Amino acid sequence: MRSGRLEELITRLRERGYRLTPQRIGVLEILAVSRGHPSVESIYRQLRERYPTVSLATVYNTVQLLRDMGEVLELGFADGSSRYDGKRPMPHPHLVCTRCGRIADLDLDATSGLPAEVGSMTGWDVTSHRLDFFGRCPMCRAARTTVGDDSH
Ligand code: ZN
Ligand code: MN
Repeated sequence: MRSGRLEELITRLRERGYRLTPQRIGVLEILAVSRGHPSVESIYRQLRERYPTVSLATVYNTVQLLRDMGEVLELGFADGSSRYDGKRPMPHPHLVCTRCGRIADLDLDATSGLPAEVGSMTGWDVTSHRLDFFGRCPMCRAARTTVGDDSH
């Protein structure tokens, strides 16, 4: 089943004249449906089940291309890792679990007007923003009471 977002991504690439191999469409598909903000490596692992010959470079290049086109939101972290959101390419707040690495969207009405407000307040031309909330997800909070491993 093809989601509307997948069709959008396919159209964007076609408009720019990119050749759409089944493997590349596979990358788009994972980006279009994933709620978990996958890394390039996790997209690669999922895709390899269907296309054993797919290369990490193909996945990486496709993700970078979509990021450069503004169709995928990149969330880079201080440890050098990056995660991607192909469902919602515009900046939006996230919850980041520092224990298991889970990343969830956070819908906060309070933040939607912030970029414009900051722009008019400061005279800056605000083109992007980043808002992350770090902590432990409910699953990790539950696990912590039984496992007791709280170290990083
Ligand atoms: Zn967690
Ligand atoms: Mn997101």
